[in-house]
Amino acid sequence: MQFESVIGLEIHIQLATESKIFCGCSTEFGKPPNTNTCPVCLGLPGALPVLNRQVPELAAKLGLALNCEIRPDSQFARKNYFYPDLPKAYQISQFDRPICENGWLDIQTESRGKSRIGITRIHMEEDAGKLVHEDAGTESMVDLNRAGVPLLEIVSEPDIRSAEEAKAYMEKIHAIATTIGVSDGDMEKGHLRCDANVSLRPEGQKEFGTRTETKNLNSFRFVQHAIDYEIERQSEEILDGVTIVQETRLWDTDRKVTFSMRSKEEADEYRYFPDPDLPLAKLSPELIETLRKKLPELPDAKKQRFMEEYGLNDYDAGVLTASQELSEYFEKVLADGAVPKIACNWITGDLTRVMNESGKTLIEINLSPENLANLTILIDQGEISSKIAKTVFAEMLDSGETPNTIIEEKGLKQITDEKELGRIVEELLASNPQQVKQYREGKTKVIGFFVGQMMKQTQGKGDPAVINRLLKEKLDG
Ligand code: ADP
Ligand code: MG
Ligand code: ZN
Repeated sequence: MQFESVIGLEIHIQLATESKIFCGCSTEFGKPPNTNTCPVCLGLPGALPVLNRQVPELAAKLGLALNCEIRPDSQFARKNYFYPDLPKAYQISQFDRPICENGWLDIQTESRGKSRIGITRIHMEEDAGKLVHEDAGTESMVDLNRAGVPLLEIVSEPDIRSAEEAKAYMEKIHAIATTIGVSDGDMEKGHLRCDANVSLRPEGQKEFGTRTETKNLNSFRFVQHAIDYEIERQSEEILDGVTIVQETRLWDTDRKVTFSMRSKEEADEYRYFPDPDLPLAKLSPELIETLRKKLPELPDAKKQRFMEEYGLNDYDAGVLTASQELSEYFEKVLADGAVPKIACNWITGDLTRVMNESGKTLIEINLSPENLANLTILIDQGEISSKIAKTVFAEMLDSGETPNTIIEEKGLKQITDEKELGRIVEELLASNPQQVKQYREGKTKVIGFFVGQMMKQTQGKGDPAVINRLLKEKLDG
């Protein structure tokens, strides 16, 4: 039997506000436990929430970017449940009158090409606190710094059909949210978390099968792996005649399996009701229109422009425009005269690697766009080889010197002089008669040995094109 997988995602995204959603406490990450707190976010009796004005505006911005209708008078609701990281015993969220509804997002994958994923709703809510377990599980403590940090929850229609699509969808939400500036999108700090609902149905069947929900996937990779695992697991169960139960599962990152956390028998009954402490969140139609007009260029449009204006291919343009940080930097480098394709290679290659390895942002790395632009020009003009360019690049990051200064001071300029290179070639052939004989007997691969030796002799500065030509001339001649 062939199965089709049906997937719907619920994505939580942390908003880039300085203060929390219902009080003035800071949202700064990494502060000592319980220092970013006040009577409101500690849930003390009698304390009253006041909505951070920025939150509905950011929510509307994201909603507009995701083609949603924006509700001008959305309503907060209490979602009641007890947990030690939730001192009020309810979370302020939205229920039947969320701020955004009925949107969509187009994604592109290898397996299904272009597909449109419906967005059911986006609502505003507060985050909960965090439990800290110490002393090998004998003690649990609670840190409420995160309680009241503003989140948006984006609920998709069950329109996704593979783990690959789920990953592409989540990556695109991330690219859009960071491009329009509603979130910093820092995955390491949990700014983007996803619950994946997965079910299977026999190919051709209209009704959906029973779904499981795998909670709290906080990386693109985990989303993909957890869904792939869940599809495999469910299909084996069904083929074995086992009925899939609706349940909440978790992803074990070490064992790479999902496991059951609770079944829907103990299903949450949240008894939502409108929060009497908060008025409707009003957004005037004029403000919504202003927000719509002020939306910056979105990743898809930017990608198209990068391909047309700078001649980048689909893949390169996609990688750059998936990140506001990278695409903005790329355009700065181009403004300083860089060669687009070479600049793109350095930014998506070595520079991204340095960012990943050091955990630093571009601002912290502090590579001036002008220096990188000049490096691309020197490479393009054949002044330095790509190997030497790596040395220059590392040195630029280290000292902040211009590539020209570094090349000058370290004597790294490419040797293109045919006389000089020709002399070294002749010496080399004279001292390796064995390899010359092999070459002339038809083992032409041995030329690689000579190229290597030439690079060694010139400390990597010999122009590979000239070296290759000279070697062939002398060996064949
Ligand atoms: P709940 O409130 O219990 O989480 P919802 O109806 O709001 O349930 O759905 C939550 C998510 O589950 C949505 O993203 C939706 O698209 C998805 N979903 C619903 N039914 C299915 C199904 N049969 N298979 C896969 N995903 C589903
Ligand atoms: Mg849910
Ligand atoms: Zn507070």
